[in-house]
Amino acid sequence: MKAVLISYTEQPEKKVAAAARLCYSPIGAQEILDELDQTTAENFLRKLIALGHLSPLEHVSFTFAIEGVSRVLSHQMVRHRIASYSQKSQRYVSEHEFEYVIPPAVKNNPAALEVYKEKMAVIASAYSELAGMIPKEDARYLLPSACETKFVCTFNARSLLNFFEHRCCQRAQWEIRGLAKEMLRLVRAVAPTMFEKAGAACDVYGICYEGKMSCGRVKNIITRG
Ligand SMILES: Cc1cc2nc3c(=O)[nH]c(=O)nc-3n(C[C@H](O)[C@H](O)[C@H](O)COP(=O)(O)OP(=O)(O)OC[C@H]3O[C@@H](n4cnc5c(N)ncnc54)[C@H](O)[C@@H]3O)c2cc1C
Repeated sequence: MKAVLISYTEQPEKKVAAAARLCYSPIGAQEILDELDQTTAENFLRKLIALGHLSPLEHVSFTFAIEGVSRVLSHQMVRHRIASYSQKSQRYVSEHEFEYVIPPAVKNNPAALEVYKEKMAVIASAYSELAGMIPKEDARYLLPSACETKFVCTFNARSLLNFFEHRCCQRAQWEIRGLAKEMLRLVRAVAPTMFEKAGAACDVYGICYEGKMSCGRVKNIITRG
């Protein structure tokens, strides 16, 4: 798995603080931005996040290039609707020698690994045979969810906080959890205050919404029921 933060809004913490301050200020956003120092911006940002006043975080965005992940992962990823995606197409790019992700449970079990690799080779051969007879867009129906894919995605900061809450959780599936943790590491490096309290609900609020499925990391389990 490879995740690269390929671009992000310049000075994201100052931008968010300036947008939020505008709500309470007679002067314009550019003037606020010109006068704002980083420490003031950080303190203001902490206050906003603590109060759950999160809409100003929608003004800054982060774009990631993700590679070497499965289509199992990308299927879960696109459920996060408040983001934009561009993914390698199996209609236009042939998958004759497709790479595939091997789950740790398979990797750590020699007998399972043998079956897994053998069946992937069978699928690859059947795909190539079919792709010689019919369009790639139809031959791809044979391909497994393990197929490696790549995509670019852009999240605003508020949506990223929500993504981390869901996917850094111990209950999230291992592959997307690994990606979420790596994405969190990347954005923390460029916006440390904005993401200092980001992560699974137990990390952020000390509570868990997973009910009986909770991993048990925190005792405070909250349900609506
Ligand atoms: C551990 C785990 C298990 C899961 N299991 C399943 C499963 O078995 N089956 C399954 O289908 N999914 C499952 N999911 C996916 C989950 O239900 C969400 O679809 C996914 O996490 C995206 O979350 P989201 O809707 O908050 O994100 P986004 O789509 O990015 O939305 C962000 C927020 O915007 C608001 N929003 C977005 N769209 C709407 C809308 N149309 N109406 C109102 N408010 C909106 C909501 O407040 C939402 O929280 C699972 C997720 C996790 C983490």
